[in-house]
Amino acid sequence: MKVNIINPKTCYLCGSSENLTKDHIPPKNLFTQPLPGNLITVDCCKDCNQKHALDDEAFRVFTSSVINRSKAGEWIWNHKVMNSSFVRSPKLKENVKNSLVPLRDSNTGILYHGITLHESRVKPYLIKITKGLIRHFHPEADYSKSQFRVIMINPTQEIIDKTLVKFVYDERGDGIFRFWRAFYTTGQAESVWVYVFYDGLMFILTSPQPFLD
Ligand SMILES: [Zn+2]
Repeated sequence: MKVNIINPKTCYLCGSSENLTKDHIPPKNLFTQPLPGNLITVDCCKDCNQKHALDDEAFRVFTSSVINRSKAGEWIWNHKVMNSSFVRSPKLKENVKNSLVPLRDSNTGILYHGITLHESRVKPYLIKITKGLIRHFHPEADYSKSQFRVIMINPTQEIIDKTLVKFVYDERGDGIFRFWRAFYTTGQAESVWVYVFYDGLMFILTSPQPFLD
């Protein structure tokens, strides 16, 4: 098996080695203060870093609004979204209002209006996180031609107990970002990543394409 040696001093998104800054994985705006001391950062060029600021904001609004969010998610919603993001950007508030759809809480059966975010914005955000985590945990892996598949599911204890037992568990923050990873490098290299944001939204990412050849 050939292992690609990647210059670690390149942008994890576009590969550029110029104007490098640090990008937090997942984005720093998801975290409550004081920030945890173990946040993950990777090299990222200035252009890529700035390009994703609006998507980072949109995802934070979406994920901190869900009905079964953790305490940290509720804090972010009250202090950062309602009292900061919406005040700063009436346009964002209007877009969010227009995205409301009637939803039913799967636990209580109660109908409510929930914020939605189109998958064309959710997927790139999650793929960006995945690339950052691969760069951090497996800096030798070349994911530049990888294709990622994104699945969104409701996190239940049963899924967590049955499916994720063989995965490596990790977390950043308390009730903010939990993640599991399984990375196979024998035969067809493949990785599976599971993310839970604010204990309320769960996503699975798989990459069927080989990382290593
Ligand atoms: Zn870049």
